[in-house]
Amino acid sequence: MIKGDCKLCGGYKDLCKAHIIARPFFKFLYPDHVANGTLIALSQFQNKYRKIKVPAAGMYDSGILCAECDNVFGKYDKYAAEILLKAEFDETPEKEGYVLNTYDYKKLKLFFLSLVFRGSVSKHKAFERILVGEEHEQKIRDLLLAEKPGTEDEYSVFLAKFDDSIRIPFATKNIPNPRKIRLEGINFCIFYFSNGMIAYIKIDKRKLGMPYSGVMLKQGHPCFIIKIEYETSAEFKLLMESAKIFFQEKNN
Ligand SMILES: [Zn+2]
Repeated sequence: MIKGDCKLCGGYKDLCKAHIIARPFFKFLYPDHVANGTLIALSQFQNKYRKIKVPAAGMYDSGILCAECDNVFGKYDKYAAEILLKAEFDETPEKEGYVLNTYDYKKLKLFFLSLVFRGSVSKHKAFERILVGEEHEQKIRDLLLAEKPGTEDEYSVFLAKFDDSIRIPFATKNIPNPRKIRLEGINFCIFYFSNGMIAYIKIDKRKLGMPYSGVMLKQGHPCFIIKIEYETSAEFKLLMESAKIFFQEKNN
């Protein structure tokens, strides 16, 4: 164990192996949900592909959190895994998405905030694109320390799901690395999970307009998930391209 400054509480303590994407999301990738072996992550950065070896239970960073703070995040991880991997969402009447009528806004939102925080303070290669800058990092840290999820307009979150698991079974069985994007000029971090789940987390002071404001997480409202077709997604294209390069290299 190394001693260092915990990025959340600021204390000089023994730092633990802190998972960023929690173990249940990786276990979901394996048959019977038992994690064994080594995963190889393919990452595209500045138009180059890189391979990162990932332990079966997912990557961790040993330089960011003390055990106490990691345990607090662990509670959010557990809840998020229940919602994103196990909860039974109903299809919306127009079949454009899914809905879950009751859930704990505070816990789920704190999970997404903790994820952005962990990704941003981590030096792990898989999270190199998640840098939110000092100001946002500090604001998110304050919310996490106070265990406050913020209002629906602060770091707004909306969810989506790849929905081609019948035609393309691995649509739900891979976890692309998180990245930043802009939607209508507004900055987001996107995190991917197994089960085809995707979270868009707004890292921007500007408020979201429709249609996103209609589906973002809100206290006292149902949780919506937008369906995304996997076969035509940028993520599917990227996975196919990187897999091709990976197998070409392997055969040479
Ligand atoms: Zn700590």
